[in-house]
Amino acid sequence: MLKFVLLILISVSLNAKSCAVLLYHHFSDEMPKSTSISPKLFEQHLQYLQVNEFKVLPLKTLLSKLKDNDLPDRCVVLTTDDAYQSIYTNAYPLLKKYQMPMAVFVATQAIDKNYKAMMSWNQMREIQGEYVKFYNHTAAHSHLLDLNKAQVKTQIEQAQNSLYQALGTTDKVLAYPYGESNLSILKQVEELDYIAFGQQSGVVSKASDLQNLPRFPMAANFAKMKSFQLKVNTLPMPLVKKRINPIIDKNPPMLNLTFEISQSKPQQDGFNCFANGGVDINWKDDKNVEIVAKKPLMHRRNKYNCTMPSQSKEKYYWHSVQWINPSIAE
Ligand SMILES: [Zn+2]
Repeated sequence: MLKFVLLILISVSLNAKSCAVLLYHHFSDEMPKSTSISPKLFEQHLQYLQVNEFKVLPLKTLLSKLKDNDLPDRCVVLTTDDAYQSIYTNAYPLLKKYQMPMAVFVATQAIDKNYKAMMSWNQMREIQGEYVKFYNHTAAHSHLLDLNKAQVKTQIEQAQNSLYQALGTTDKVLAYPYGESNLSILKQVEELDYIAFGQQSGVVSKASDLQNLPRFPMAANFAKMKSFQLKVNTLPMPLVKKRINPIIDKNPPMLNLTFEISQSKPQQDGFNCFANGGVDINWKDDKNVEIVAKKPLMHRRNKYNCTMPSQSKEKYYWHSVQWINPSIAE
């Protein structure tokens, strides 16, 4: 009996060491809905996190606690890509009000060119500090898959240099434009000593690929309170750490997942995956499962989203993969 209780305790504490990283773009009622959240709804997100006593960590703290496998329970990190003007006008005042930090990934050429939709370096200097920190989103926001190795390096290092010159940023954290990478980019980014984020949904845990960390997109329907609450309360699928090649070489691609521990029949039955047109799920044994879409994936970026109810049925485990077909243009 004691052994059983201990096992439960161990598995609960393992599950808890994770953090939901959220990805925003615009905080606006006027910008495209597909990448925007209204300032009013964003405030509801922050209120929910405050009332429910979530620990909203700075990005740097997430990364150091992840390294030590010491992430707290109820952990959330706020991130925004592209450094749009609405961060300055609409998000920053709310971050200050609720005393919550946000990491902003900047494609630096757009700032150098003074694009109206973007913040200026001056505005960024003004708000950077306790509540806002700026990180690397490459210089030109190109599709990295179209570039050679030297060009990828230039894109990353040019942006890092601009961020250092303008804002003093030294931490090497990158968000891939469009969340796109391949095995050679993942390896190169690792060799350049960067931690990097993709755009596939999921929870950051010790099983995450440090060069392709997941984030939950927060825009349109995904940003609504019901979806938001589900995401921030999600658990990482308890998988063995494995680097996945995000490029589709055989269409539809096969996803092989390996669980840390044997999954009971009810757990296996509760495991489900979603893709356009449906998926076939094949358990090879009680730890290994194969997932393949029923039809070829037709978009440039495609998702397999897998979920499984936790033993208590109160929460969901989540794992998502973004599959890229580089031959399809944006
Ligand atoms: Zn972007």
